[in-house]
Order: sequence, then structure tokens, then C-alpha cells
Amino acid sequence: MSLGKLDNCPRCDTLFVKGVRDVCNNCYQQIEKEYAKCAEYLRKRENRGANIHQVSEATGVSIKQITKFIKEGRISVANNPNMGYPCEGCGLMIISGTLCDDCKKGLQREIGYDKDLAERLSAEEEKNRKSALAYKSRENKQ
Ligand SMILES: [Zn+2]
Ligand SMILES: [Zn+2]
Repeated sequence: MSLGKLDNCPRCDTLFVKGVRDVCNNCYQQIEKEYAKCAEYLRKRENRGANIHQVSEATGVSIKQITKFIKEGRISVANNPNMGYPCEGCGLMIISGTLCDDCKKGLQREIGYDKDLAERLSAEEEKNRKSALAYKSRENKQ
């Protein structure tokens, strides 16, 4: 029975045995240390209103990693009202999902547009097919 398979750590690229964690042990400990730093910083009353940039600057932890903590629910946005992470589309601060409302709407518009286009194209195809058929049947009659 195998205990886990070898994989590259997504954080440092070292080969490790993939198990309960999706990063290697070294990175796991690093991340835990980073989390402890953030948690300690946010525990202080005067830092309650800090935003992600301030936390990143004060702790040296990357915005990306803090974003992960927030998404994992380890850093609570409810307890830290100014915490949030940048939208992947425009960088606006958000507290859930990966995109802000505007980008989500933009994405929906894009998808809607493509759907319209696809429908128009298939209608066009259908028309061409029908006229080709009509042409053929005329041909057969002659
Ligand atoms: Zn690693
Ligand atoms: Zn956005």
C-alpha cells in the first residue's frame, strides 16, 4: 500500500510525498509561521482596521499568501472589517470569490455576447443549409 505519491511542491518546486498537505513540509512550516505573524499582527487592537497591504508590509508575508489565508477562512474578514484581497480582474478589494461584482458582470456580458454570436452563426449556417437543400431539390426536378 502506498502512503502517497511523489509530487512537486507548488510553492518551492521540491519533490515531496503528497499526503494530507498539498505543499512540502518545509513550506508548510513556513506558511504556519507566516500565518502566526499575520494572526499576531491582527490580534492587536490598533491593527483591527488594517488592510491587506498594511498586514503584508508589517509582516513581510506576500499579498498572495494572505489572500489564501482569507479564502481559507483562517483570517476572518468579519473581525477585520478592512481586510479583503484584490480582485483577479482589476485589483479592487473583495472579500469573497475571485472577482469583484463589476468584473463578474463584465464576464457575464462577454459570455452573453459569445452566446449571441454563436446563435447568429448557427442560424446563418441553418439558412445556408436550407437554401442549399432548396437548390438541390430544384435541381432534381429539372
Ligand atoms: Zn515546498
Ligand atoms: Zn474586478
